[in-house]
Amino acid sequence: MAETNSPTQAIAVSIQKVNKWYGNLHVLRDVDLDVAAGERVVVCGPSGSGKSTLIRCINNLEEHQQGTIVVDGIQVDHNIAHLDAVRREVGMVFQSFNLFPHLTVLENCTLAPMLVRGVARADAEAQARAYLERVRIPDQANKFPGQLSGGQQQRVAIARALCMKPKIMLFDEPTSALDPEMVKEVLDTMVSLARDGMTMICVTHEMGFAREVADRVVFMDHGQIVESGSPQAVFGQPKTDRLKLFLGQVL
Ligand code: ADP
Ligand code: MG
Repeated sequence: MAETNSPTQAIAVSIQKVNKWYGNLHVLRDVDLDVAAGERVVVCGPSGSGKSTLIRCINNLEEHQQGTIVVDGIQVDHNIAHLDAVRREVGMVFQSFNLFPHLTVLENCTLAPMLVRGVARADAEAQARAYLERVRIPDQANKFPGQLSGGQQQRVAIARALCMKPKIMLFDEPTSALDPEMVKEVLDTMVSLARDGMTMICVTHEMGFAREVADRVVFMDHGQIVESGSPQAVFGQPKTDRLKLFLGQVL
């Protein structure tokens, strides 16, 4: 637990002894991870180590087979009402943006609040415009995703997630598909979200971002959390050869 969090702080996400297999492939091995409300956790590790699988299990985009995942007090299990509740609390941003190509930026942002939350169109649009302002692309509201740069599309994806008023945001390598000159604009948006106290779990290899905002960095390898600690500790004093090797490759 990061020093900045008081011991009484609510647990936003609790992952206990989680195991997952794809067929015979054991991809998550006894993963334990508690994330406090307001905490920012960066997950890093080599390709194939299970990072995406882990965060996708949090909102049940993937199903875990053993162990427990509890999000804001709600158990992630086979109960549809639980899954609906969890998905309302958790926003997700993917590497590949996943915007609806046939809808405008504004429509991308208003669709779920109107359909899922029953927000009236005028209110949904006002809120969407506020979040587009927040990610600094208010003037793109009537364009289609294909008319925007990758960095702009990813900021729309962040705004779209925020329009559902999530308590927790999950990011899966949000800058990996971007041209280098667009990485900063997306990271800046994420930093500002972190500064506002959003609970965030970010899979990213952006060490600068991790150092700036992460309360905790978690290093995964072969489906396990191998090391975890402050960015200074994990990047500065790696304990295992696996982490040393990884840092040698990404730094
Ligand atoms: P990471 O995000 O760290 O690169 P993933 O969680 O995507 O890792 O993948 C973990 C392991 O699970 C990898 O070996 C990957 O090939 C495998 N895997 C991921 N998704 C699937 C799937 N849908 N079916 C079968 N194997 C998968
Ligand atoms: Mg991945």
